[in-house]
Amino acid sequence: MSSVQSGIKVTILGSGTCVPSLARSSCSVLMQVGASKLLFDSGPGTMRRLLEANTTIFDLSHVFYSHFHPDHSGEFVPLLFATKYPDGSRRKSPLTVGGGRGLLNFYEGLQNVYGQWIELAPGLLEIIEFDNKNADAITFEEFSVYTAPVKHNEESIAFRIASTDGYSVVYTGDTDYCESIIDLAKDADLLICECALPDKLRVPGHLTPSLAGELATKAGVGNLVLTHFYPECDQADIAAECRKSYDGQLILAEDLMELEIKS
Ligand SMILES: [Zn+2]
Ligand SMILES: [Zn+2]
Repeated sequence: MSSVQSGIKVTILGSGTCVPSLARSSCSVLMQVGASKLLFDSGPGTMRRLLEANTTIFDLSHVFYSHFHPDHSGEFVPLLFATKYPDGSRRKSPLTVGGGRGLLNFYEGLQNVYGQWIELAPGLLEIIEFDNKNADAITFEEFSVYTAPVKHNEESIAFRIASTDGYSVVYTGDTDYCESIIDLAKDADLLICECALPDKLRVPGHLTPSLAGELATKAGVGNLVLTHFYPECDQADIAAECRKSYDGQLILAEDLMELEIKS
């Protein structure tokens, strides 16, 4: 398994939403820190995109869920089921799954439906819940995870990953405008921010290009990736709308786009 020598390598696996699209798979981001491979959300199509990014589900060390909407969690069950195939012996190292409070309940509900089909060998699956009301943090061997509640679902949280060599990437998941993202993303090297719809089509619970830009500017972030595009975004000038409130480096996510965060 390949490892990243320094910094954080980001691969956008899916830049879309629940809307079926050949160009934009549902939401998912892969981050590599040292030998750790972290998956953020696993909407439908994630496992195929992982293979296209030369990664298998057995390479994953951590899976983090921003919230449980199916366009973000839909392949949790297939991922666990495939991990057992053919005899559960291919995964040797533990898989840590983290999300906001409610994740254990969510998993137990799935267990009630799927039973042993999604149960890994004893000791292989660890489930971690982060606080969904306050900022929270946990440190692993090669990186730390900081979380903050965001405005979308009860369980929704955003993540900041910090490598031991000083780099940081923030992934918002789905959210409306909220101050907690500004604090979480303060001076981060990269902010991966949801941008569901163009400014004129704004809906509660989601961001638009100019609101995402405002968050990045207030957080002092110089590299912004917009993602989670409904098809309406591909008909609008997303970059121009974002430029109303942000003048740093701007990237519009595409599936399988790779970004290396290092000096
Ligand atoms: Zn979504
Ligand atoms: Zn959502």
